[in-house]
Amino acid sequence: MNKLPLKHRFDIPANMIYLDGNSLGPLPRGVPERVQRMLTAEWGHHLIKGWNVDQWMAQPQRVGDQIARLIGASEGSISVGDTLSVKIFQALSAALKMRPDRNVLLSDHGNFPTDLYMAEGLIRQIDKAYELRLVSPEDVASSITSDVAVVMLTHVDYRTGRLHDMQSMTDAAHSKGAVMLWDLAHSAGAVPVDLQSCNAEMAAGCTYKYLNGGPGAPAFIYARPDLVADMEPALSGWLGHDEPFAFELNYRPAPDIERMRIGTPPVIQLAALEEALSVWDDVSMHDIRKASIDLCDLFISEVEAHCPELSLVSPRDGSQRGSQVSFAYEHGFAAMQALIAHNVIGDFRAPDIMRFGFTPLYIDETDVRAAVAILSDILSKRLWDKPEFHKRGRVT
Ligand SMILES: *Cc1c(COP(=O)(O)O)cnc(C)c1O
Repeated sequence: MNKLPLKHRFDIPANMIYLDGNSLGPLPRGVPERVQRMLTAEWGHHLIKGWNVDQWMAQPQRVGDQIARLIGASEGSISVGDTLSVKIFQALSAALKMRPDRNVLLSDHGNFPTDLYMAEGLIRQIDKAYELRLVSPEDVASSITSDVAVVMLTHVDYRTGRLHDMQSMTDAAHSKGAVMLWDLAHSAGAVPVDLQSCNAEMAAGCTYKYLNGGPGAPAFIYARPDLVADMEPALSGWLGHDEPFAFELNYRPAPDIERMRIGTPPVIQLAALEEALSVWDDVSMHDIRKASIDLCDLFISEVEAHCPELSLVSPRDGSQRGSQVSFAYEHGFAAMQALIAHNVIGDFRAPDIMRFGFTPLYIDETDVRAAVAILSDILSKRLWDKPEFHKRGRVT
């Protein structure tokens, strides 16, 4: 195993301190060459033969196995494709079908909006009185009543970094007969996850955050191997069919996770992701976690020492936190724009949260101290108070 950080594996602009890998990971070296090869040698020269000779059709599974190792899933239990919003829809509908006599879908206020929107949309499609019930994160376990079909939670809160305990929450869901669905968007590549031992039925996550697959990189979905053969795919596309090239008139799902595939895979994007994931061959999630907690702890103590204007909204205890730290500040939007203008990249989440992701693959203590020095300067001199830092773009 290599020592962290592995800065040489990433192409990050000189003088930039990138604290937004929780939103979009940076470009791993080797990806441009891999994509170029895919374009010219595979697509360009092989054309349609590429589906077989370059094994494009097997890519969603092959890349799924690379991700499986990082989240404690067994080989062949993950498929990659589509967006996380779509994967959440698929997982949720399959989970609801597993408990036909129950009608509540339980989640928390800390969940990411798209997960909740997809749940709302799914419920509207079903001709049955389903309810999406939202409670506070700390009240989820005690709210799993006998009418709850599915508990759907995001492991790491995207805003605050608060972490749910996967094992005890999954146990709580199972003890009440509910299906557990985990969203691992801010977990895969950030914190150790052991899907097999926690025994959750379903999970999904994205690959453009801590897994550095690039903007729009496809999502992944996990289904417990002992249950997948009975899961009903709501989006029954031809590539989830047992024999897509038999071109049968009726849908017959593949016996395994392949049934969660829908249509043609994004081959170029998968090539980028496959290459990006090779970084993980050389590091252990245990080392990543340890370094991440150290970096986050250091950031918190430095900010509290030098930036009295900010107040911590993330858990102080590293074991209760993902790989990000958030501070509230009433001028947070403008302060973040000023910080970005000074080449320290974090992001802003409404209403007043400045969010910083720490990825030990390419961030070290020197970066943390330098980032806080710049932040402190911006705050104490009110450098954020300029018209250009108050203008809001389409993406924050
Ligand atoms: C980032 C994120 C998403 C994004 O969904 P897309 O469909 O990939 O845009 C969904 N859910 C959570 C919890 C996220 O953090």
